[in-house]
Amino acid sequence: MLALEHGDPLEEAVYCEVMFDAATSGEIPEHRDFIREKGIPFLDAHGVKVTVLRSSMTYLDSFYRVVQRGAAAGKLNSWPLCGRCCIQRDCKLPPITAYQNTLGPDTVQYIGYACDEQERLMRLDGGKKVSLLAKYRVSEADAAALCKRAGLYSPIYKFTSRNGCFFCPNATRKELRHLYDHHPDLWAKLLALQQAPNKATERFNRTQRIDEIDMGFQWEDRQCSLFDPNNYT
Ligand code: SF4
Repeated sequence: MLALEHGDPLEEAVYCEVMFDAATSGEIPEHRDFIREKGIPFLDAHGVKVTVLRSSMTYLDSFYRVVQRGAAAGKLNSWPLCGRCCIQRDCKLPPITAYQNTLGPDTVQYIGYACDEQERLMRLDGGKKVSLLAKYRVSEADAAALCKRAGLYSPIYKFTSRNGCFFCPNATRKELRHLYDHHPDLWAKLLALQQAPNKATERFNRTQRIDEIDMGFQWEDRQCSLFDPNNYT
């Protein structure tokens, strides 16, 4: 939107969709629909070419990959680790890097770091990655307001302050509870993976297995129903 408003060069928008399996997006469904139904049509309507990339490697391919080296050799790669997520490395970055390599060496990439994200801005390598939010002094709060005004504010911000894959090991408890409550089909897919034998790690996130998280949610539901006056005559 800033590029369009200020006339900065904008040849295309590139989106890499991480997939859970060949048919299931890794995006939170509300965000997946927002991208498909709002984001891409907005760019189309403004004459911006949209390129959608997907890796041939899915989350499940990564999960069932047999580790070749190190202490976990011979085991299933299984759950991605907090702080060292292999999905970024295996499913997200390779298609982006391969696509970038097809473009000219002078191609500039716009990065969505706001002007009040100083630490992240320091990491931009001079020239090839540019933040238009910093250039036009737009803060995180301003960016949210801009998106809301344009009808381009993802609905996921109703229940989380961050976005990530639905299987993200960094997901907050609130995000996991949202998945459990509103997308039981996806939750069931994750829960089923706990049955896979010989995993490099049993933990879904830093502290818990997915079945432990599931049991915690079930326990919460039972407590709520015990104290629900509608359950008593
Ligand atoms: S959002 Fe989470 S699971 Fe997805 S690539 Fe990033 S760290 Fe990995």
